[in-house]
Amino acid sequence: MNYSQNLLRELPAVDRLLKEAVLEESLQNLPRRLVLQAVKDTINSYRKRIASSSASDQLSGQINLSPHVLAAEAAALAENYAGMNLKSVINATGVVIHTNLGRVPLARAAVEAISDIAASYNNLELSLKTGRRGSRQEHLEELICDLTGAEAALVLNNNAAAVFLALNTIAGGREVVVSRGQLVEIGSSFRIPEIMISSGARLAEVGTTNKTHLRDYEAAVNEDTAAFLKVHTSNYYMVGFTAEVGTADLAALAHRKGLLLLEDLGSGVLFDLEKYNLPAEPLVQDSISAGADLVTFSGDKMLGGPQSGIIVGRKDLISDIRSNQLARALRIDKFTIASLEATLRLYLDEETAVNEIPVWRMLTIDSDTLQQRAYALAERFAEIFGSDQVGVTEGFSKVGGGALPSAELPTYLVTIKPADGKIHPTEFAEQLWRGDQPVILRLQQDTLLFDPRTIFENQEDELVEAIRKVLNGQ
Ligand SMILES: *Cc1c(COP(=O)(O)O)cnc(C)c1O
Repeated sequence: MNYSQNLLRELPAVDRLLKEAVLEESLQNLPRRLVLQAVKDTINSYRKRIASSSASDQLSGQINLSPHVLAAEAAALAENYAGMNLKSVINATGVVIHTNLGRVPLARAAVEAISDIAASYNNLELSLKTGRRGSRQEHLEELICDLTGAEAALVLNNNAAAVFLALNTIAGGREVVVSRGQLVEIGSSFRIPEIMISSGARLAEVGTTNKTHLRDYEAAVNEDTAAFLKVHTSNYYMVGFTAEVGTADLAALAHRKGLLLLEDLGSGVLFDLEKYNLPAEPLVQDSISAGADLVTFSGDKMLGGPQSGIIVGRKDLISDIRSNQLARALRIDKFTIASLEATLRLYLDEETAVNEIPVWRMLTIDSDTLQQRAYALAERFAEIFGSDQVGVTEGFSKVGGGALPSAELPTYLVTIKPADGKIHPTEFAEQLWRGDQPVILRLQQDTLLFDPRTIFENQEDELVEAIRKVLNGQ
């Protein structure tokens, strides 16, 4: 008879655990199937632990099998199972547009617009002027045209959909000329060459990785060519011996040859970034006024709105895209319309946009504020950790989301370097993201870094609490 078998026999059964007060309480508050699952999973995890533990662990009583202990663990697990899978997290990474963390938080007005529309009926496809059937796009089009100077606009699910549908409509079965320096990958599932193939357009590459000239485009034109595509290389940049053709020159050549120019801007920037000490980005309205026939950009990158892809440009072309059979498959829902409209309305006044839209607020926080917030947070962390393990250091935040890769945003980082033997930094970071209020942070060697730029002030109490809980082993 070995020790493992003895211990396995001592494992309490499901029914026995359910009699423990803590689980009786769980049964009253949570769905029964979740509680049962948690109890079974807890027992199973003990079974595995026993099987893989050493004889000396077992002899020294390292594994406590009292029903009380197992029931408490199962109750906590049940609580965890009952929580939402998708939940809000504290972003302490300093990456402002964070695709894995939902890209960007919405402005208050946009959040309110969603909850207002969600809870009642609305005029999604009813014109309140005529009382007749309307288009869902009408709520957005005029506003977008006003902000970008375009004749017409159409909003789809995301920018990948916008590029896809624009190409499919204007160039399906025909050739589209793209510079080799602009055949970019945005995420593993969005690469310009692949999206072109699936749209039905044929890719004609011109130029070289670092230099493409107007004459390269000109030489590539044949009777099968439908358009030039210019892609803003939003997530990387080249320095040195480089050249690409500007929108105005490319538009002029396209029109001279009877072709169209489509420009994919990636991020939708509507005002001059240099004013805010950020690297210049092409503006949507500049592409339109330079002669691009269609321009596409994301709603949830620099624009700071909901996931969406906006196409602006010539009225006849937008109308063709709208009548494409695939438009229905890529159309936006009422929540996107509500929050995008609310976000765009903030852009009617630049100062309001910068103050109210979280991505802009975070990108333009001044250095003194960041410093003050970092020191104030550090002081609170020091009450938990002791001041020898907590500090403030200068560092950089990132724009993220494949936008402004060259931007350096100086910031102040709060650091925690747990003393030897206290808690391992990796373990600490892991427990922070697994907690009730998950915190996502940067780990650099054995130091945890918290960037106040992306931590909202009203999250600071929760952050401090989350850290306290981990340290107290709760
Ligand atoms: C981000 C990006 C896209 C894809 O936009 P989504 O809204 O994420 O679908 C396409 N093109 C460029 C240049 C981008 O930067």
